[in-house]
Amino acid sequence: MIKILANDGIDPIGKKMLEEAGFVVDTETVPQDKLAEALLNYDGITVRSATKLRKELIDQVPNIKLIGRGGVGMDNIDVEYARSKGITVVNTPAASSLSVAELVFAHLFTGVRFLQDSNRKMPVEGNTRFNDLKKAYAKGIELRGKTIGIIGFGRIGRETATVALGLGMNVLAYDLFPFEGSLSLSFQGGASVQIPVKTVSLEEVITGSDFISLHTPFADKPILGAEEFAKMKKGVAVVNCSRGGTIDEPALIEALNNGKVAFAGLDVFDNEPTPKAELLQHPKVSLTPHIGASTNEAQERIGAELANLIIDHFNK
Ligand code: NAD
Repeated sequence: MIKILANDGIDPIGKKMLEEAGFVVDTETVPQDKLAEALLNYDGITVRSATKLRKELIDQVPNIKLIGRGGVGMDNIDVEYARSKGITVVNTPAASSLSVAELVFAHLFTGVRFLQDSNRKMPVEGNTRFNDLKKAYAKGIELRGKTIGIIGFGRIGRETATVALGLGMNVLAYDLFPFEGSLSLSFQGGASVQIPVKTVSLEEVITGSDFISLHTPFADKPILGAEEFAKMKKGVAVVNCSRGGTIDEPALIEALNNGKVAFAGLDVFDNEPTPKAELLQHPKVSLTPHIGASTNEAQERIGAELANLIIDHFNK
């Protein structure tokens, strides 16, 4: 019987699919320092971002044949090393794209109506300074008709563009690999419409957007720094639901303070899990603690996709 340790948990749908296919699935989390010993009793392991599967650990568990990552980024796994040892490494890259894209708009809708600040102040001053607060938040704007710039036009970037188009926004997208094609928008009743989209230069995105959303991996340096903020429209907003490090945080704080950037929506940070207090306390920043993929629907899709990958691997 094939035994899988789902060390960072797995959605009950995925667990059920595996069990119905005859696998044993344990979902109790084994602490990192006990994993080498525990894994000797398993054929495969699934993780999210918490459990680390580094070279040293991989060397100690030659019985492991499959590593499954529920989600996208595999920074917590020495993927190439594992593969060089004959271990199959799989992930579920597309399952959470819509959840991340919707979080981008949660931050945008928040920022354009000052909800990040209103939600902080109303509990404290809502019954003593109601009219002052009403005045302070009176100059909101709408998203429809505005231009969203999308940097990184992969799975999540395209999903973000699709939501934006559905809201009646204009899209300017940039990717290292140019894209020319169409995005499909689906509506009630099964209707769908194809909207042609073509990537433009990074310069056009930076100078021409009312809102800019980042959807690239982190490479070696930030994509948005002081130079880029200087070229943006005054009053631009910036959303980062990609990876910490893709925005130069001190430059962002400076741009928020001098009014160049009207607001920011941040799901990811340098130094997670201890982001800068200056960002956490900034009245112009809408904040979430890296929850882009954390919806029930995404977890179900991740669990089911992972289960199918595991079943396919061991049954082939
Ligand atoms: P993807 O691989 O489908 O797309 C990334 C795109 O970025 C690719 O098209 C690539 O060509 C492009 N790219 C890479 N470097 C670039 C650069 N310097 N300039 C412009 N484009 C560049 O990945 P995805 O699934 O769309 O994920 C995008 C990001 O979102 C990743 O960093 C991922 O880790 C992150 N993510 C975050 C959460 C969250 O919880 N907030 C959840 C899932 C994914």
